[in-house]
Amino acid sequence: MTGMRNKPWASPLYVLYLAGAMAAMFAVYLWLAPGGHTAPQAQTEGELAIIPPKAMPVAPSVLRSSQGFGRIRVGIIAGHAGFDSGAVCDDGLTEVSVNTSIAGLVVNRLQREGIATDLLKEFDPRLEGYVATALVSIHADSCIYPEATGFKVASLEGSTNAANRSLVDCLTRHYAERTGLPFHEHSITYDMTQYHAFNEIAPLTAGAIIEVGFMLADRVFLTTQPELAADGITEGIQCFIREQRLQAQ
Ligand SMILES: [Zn+2]
Repeated sequence: MTGMRNKPWASPLYVLYLAGAMAAMFAVYLWLAPGGHTAPQAQTEGELAIIPPKAMPVAPSVLRSSQGFGRIRVGIIAGHAGFDSGAVCDDGLTEVSVNTSIAGLVVNRLQREGIATDLLKEFDPRLEGYVATALVSIHADSCIYPEATGFKVASLEGSTNAANRSLVDCLTRHYAERTGLPFHEHSITYDMTQYHAFNEIAPLTAGAIIEVGFMLADRVFLTTQPELAADGITEGIQCFIREQRLQAQ
C-alpha cells in the first residue's frame, strides 16, 4: 500500500488535522448538549414541574436581605372581604363569612408565633407592590355541587418564581394532613391561576390561593371546625418559611 503516500488524505499532517477538527466538534457538542453550559430551559407548568433553584436569577428578597431573617412578613387575604359576599348558599351562608373566619384565625396564629402578618381585603390597596415572604388568599368553593368535596391550592400560572411552587406544596401537604380533605385537582380554574393579586404583589413575593373546601358537601367542617382549616394553612406557611430559610443559607 505504498501508493497511498502520495495521496493528501493519507499524509500524517492531514490525519492530525482531521483528528483536531473532530475533537473541536466534539467539544462544541458537549458545550451545547443538555446539561452543558447552555441557558436552562423553561420548565413546563405541569403539577410536578420542578424548577431547579440554580436556574433562578440571583435576586435580593425579603429573606435574603443583609438584615438576615428578621423581616419575615405574611399577608392573608380574606377572600371577597370588602368587596362582595362570594358564593352564597340557599340558606344564606356566604363564602365571605367562611373566608373571614378562617383568615382571622390564621392571622392570630401567625402573630402568636411572632410573624408579622397583615390581614388584607380582597382588593386591598396594600396589595399593589406588596412586599412579603408570602401572600395567601383564602377562598371557599361554591354551594352548588352536592358531590364535590375537597380543597385546592394554586399559584400564578407561568410564574418563574420557584418559591411559589414551594408555597403551594407546603400548603397542600399540611392542609390535607390537618383536615383530611382530598385535593380536588380537576377544578382549578383560570380565576385561581390568574388570580388578580398575583399580578399586583411585588414579583419576589410568593403568592398562593387556597380554596378551603366546598360550601355544600364540606359545609359542616367549614362552619364548625374553622380552627382545623386555620391550623392547616398556618402550618403550611410555617413549612414554607422553614424551606426558604434553608435555601437562603
Ligand atoms: Zn371566592
